[in-house]
Amino acid sequence: MFETGLRQLRMAGSLIWGRPMSPANLERLVADALATMREFGSPGDDVGQLLEGPFADPTGRRILQDRALRRTAERAAAVTAFYGIRFREAGLDPATVDVDSIRGLPLTSKADLTQQPDGFLATGVRPYLATRTTGTTGRPVEVWMSRHEAALWPALAALAGVLRGEITPGDCMQVNISSRATAAVQHNVSVCRLAEARCVVLGVVPPDETLDSMLESGVTLLSTYPSYLALLVLAAHRRGLSAADFALRRIDCGGEVLSTAVRTAAQTTFGTAVNDTFAMTEVLPVSARSCSRGHLHHDLNAGLVEVLDPSTGDPVGPGELGSVVVTPYFPFRDCMPVLRYDTRDLVRTVADDDLRCELAGTPGTSLILGKSDRGLAAVLDRDLIEALEAAPSRPWPLRYVIESRAGHPLVHVRADQFTGMSADEVTRLLFAYGVSADVTLDDDLPNVGPGRRMVRADLMETTFTRPTPFTRPREEAS
Ligand SMILES: [Zn+2]
Repeated sequence: MFETGLRQLRMAGSLIWGRPMSPANLERLVADALATMREFGSPGDDVGQLLEGPFADPTGRRILQDRALRRTAERAAAVTAFYGIRFREAGLDPATVDVDSIRGLPLTSKADLTQQPDGFLATGVRPYLATRTTGTTGRPVEVWMSRHEAALWPALAALAGVLRGEITPGDCMQVNISSRATAAVQHNVSVCRLAEARCVVLGVVPPDETLDSMLESGVTLLSTYPSYLALLVLAAHRRGLSAADFALRRIDCGGEVLSTAVRTAAQTTFGTAVNDTFAMTEVLPVSARSCSRGHLHHDLNAGLVEVLDPSTGDPVGPGELGSVVVTPYFPFRDCMPVLRYDTRDLVRTVADDDLRCELAGTPGTSLILGKSDRGLAAVLDRDLIEALEAAPSRPWPLRYVIESRAGHPLVHVRADQFTGMSADEVTRLLFAYGVSADVTLDDDLPNVGPGRRMVRADLMETTFTRPTPFTRPREEAS
């Protein structure tokens, strides 16, 4: 297929040289891949090479990164008020920065984005769609996307998804994420359109409605939050539903800590793998995938990813805890660029030699362990959630407040989530997972600032529930 080859070449060229990438060209590449798969059953080896992108090759990576970073920095300094000032104040020439010297540029914080959003809007780019973070800490951030971005990001995702067999024309994707996460919803809908799959957008609605839809629509792919997935598992158990009742072939989860207990229960209940993914509104389109060994691998083609010590700002060594800092590259990100955005997501880095997984070609970290701004780094959110969600009472999704009492962590949990357990028993459960903290069982959790765990399952959207075979009285059902 000469046409396909030509388009592939253009795409590879765009990745390496940073030329503007045509979404229409990419969409045709997706169509080519679907046509080839219909005819030959697989996309072909040559198309598969595109997948990892030029940045996956460790030998040439640094040169490509320096070039992409310079291009991104130069543009951001020229077209945004915020970075024009930032570079001047830092005494840095954006035309000369590289992966090392960019560390002279102070990190961009969430506060920067919420306090002066207009300072990040690029001149000459028309904003199209606003998306607000459904973040669980502080004020939401509003990020604007251009029409170009709204077309480009799903086209890139659809191409990768189709080539990896992660989405096919036979699939039906159900989207159970907040309707206010417009970028993510728009993204999923567009990916399905390009992959010729069906798409059901439900939002965070009462779990029974979601299960009904899964049963009725033959849903094969589910996209949701870990806390909401936990509610779905509990609802399915209550209704006596099991794997044989569902047609799912993958569940994609993101935005929160997914515990082993919830993941395992979901895999058994729905009879499919649960995939822990990473995406964050502020640093789109940079995302990360988790591998079979439980690492997080960021997509290096779309941006620079640093893991930095939250107190010193220096890169951390293998095994050390650091905050993930992301710079999405131009031309992937054009409307509201961010440089060195501090996600405040804590991870441990993993030495390249220790990766030994199917994604070992690209650097990996641990899964996200917590937030650096929660003030109590002594106890990581993931450790607490892993330990407590494993309790026999299935306290899903776990709610807690953590505070410091005389220098020692004190964890408040809800008594009704730990029926049959004493505070001492909960303390011992934590200890068994290596967490040393005191525990109190409360009827209502105290509302103390950053120590409170918020879950997206609480973003419940009300609907006029339609009658279903499961709730309809028997005489009306006939
Ligand atoms: Zn890995």
